[in-house]
Amino acid sequence: MVLPRAADVVNRRLPRFQADRSRSIVKGMEAILLSIGNELTCGQTVDTNAAWLSRRLAEAGVRVLLQVTAPDDLEPIRAELDRACARADVVLITGGLGPTEDDLTRQALAAAMGRPLVLSPFHAEQIRRFFSTRNLSMPEANVVQAMFPEGSTPIDNTAGTAPGIRATCGRATVFAMPGVPREMKVMFDRDVMPWIRARAGGAAILSRTLNCFGEGESAIGERIGDLMRRDRNPLVGTTASRGVIGIRVHARGESPAEAAGRLERTCAEIRARLGDLVFGEDQATLAHAVAALLIEQRLTVATAESCTGGLIAKSLTDVPGSSAYFIEGLICYANAAKTRLLGLAPELLAAHGAVSPQVAEAMAAGCRQRGGTDLAVSTTGIAGPTGGTETRPVGLVYIGLADGAGAVVTEHRLGSFLDREEIRDRAAKIALNRLRLWLLARRADRGGGSR
Ligand code: AMP
Ligand code: MG
Repeated sequence: MVLPRAADVVNRRLPRFQADRSRSIVKGMEAILLSIGNELTCGQTVDTNAAWLSRRLAEAGVRVLLQVTAPDDLEPIRAELDRACARADVVLITGGLGPTEDDLTRQALAAAMGRPLVLSPFHAEQIRRFFSTRNLSMPEANVVQAMFPEGSTPIDNTAGTAPGIRATCGRATVFAMPGVPREMKVMFDRDVMPWIRARAGGAAILSRTLNCFGEGESAIGERIGDLMRRDRNPLVGTTASRGVIGIRVHARGESPAEAAGRLERTCAEIRARLGDLVFGEDQATLAHAVAALLIEQRLTVATAESCTGGLIAKSLTDVPGSSAYFIEGLICYANAAKTRLLGLAPELLAAHGAVSPQVAEAMAAGCRQRGGTDLAVSTTGIAGPTGGTETRPVGLVYIGLADGAGAVVTEHRLGSFLDREEIRDRAAKIALNRLRLWLLARRADRGGGSR
């Protein structure tokens, strides 16, 4: 494969980017999030504040340009503040407002504003009271929490000691909030969100994820590449997770209705291009899709699993109401179990080996007959890490699907990059996807339903 040179990529993209920018972007309010703390930069604590704030801001139609994490050192915090305040309308800081030597947010903010820190006697008294009502004497170190950059506005903390700070810095309004997630959330909802909503107008960002299975991220990317341009609204991006490709669509609008219209049009376009690759939206799993189709067509299913060890049955029964379509699931691991439970001839197993298309076929057919179901799926394969041979490598999996006309087997080679757990998971998903595609094809044959 010949990779394009970076310069070619840039040259190809730049003109389009410039031409479309003014037409398609609803700019709206833009935010940068600054999370502060050594526990974050060293990986001890996961930054849940930024994720939570990003979701909240999206609800108000505010676009998050960047999430930045800085350690408890004055200079990096100040440098990031300078940069953020030159770019964003709103900068939300969490952390570093505590009373100890390593809490430097207020100092960094004062430096970025070019103002001194001044004591607020009112807030000093308030913090003192916080301690005295708990029968504690206030450590002197806590006085620093009553110091604010000159010209800034303190924000009450009803859930802890450290007041927050609202300030103007560069072109941005900065909100500094406590790092403790519980305190931060209370302060954001009570004091920051109303401020933002009042200024963001009725703007909204609506998001949806379309879940796909059956092709890789790059193959899907090729089909919707033009919809994924970074200057487009809605913004479309993909993420691959355990074989499922999620296509995230973020639509901005001056009103929720405008955002919803954009979201629907782009989702419809993606669905039209990808067809059956899309199996559901947001939290929907392959099993949800299969369940809905089985219920709609009033069909039943049973499973006979070897290498997937019950994963398909588990997925199908994870869905509430699964008793409407799921009859039974067998885990037939040993050859003897395949013979005893499914009636496989020992000669068949001896002639072809347990991991073979013939065995997958007989398992699916036997399972369907035994369960008296409309459909049955089977799996047999080598999940590894041991047990592979030259001709039957780790990751070789056969999946059978039996219906009234017989059983069809597909062969899959999943071993190259996946470990045991992933091979089993992928095999189960492939089996569920085969069921889904079978059910979709049947529906289309009968001319029923919309696809
Ligand atoms: P601080 O306000 O910087 O003293 O932070 C107090 C505590 O809040 C830290 O020790 C962390 O446990 C927690 N914390 C701070 N920032 C975050 C964050 N971004 N996400 C999750 N927890 C955080
Ligand atoms: Mg801290």
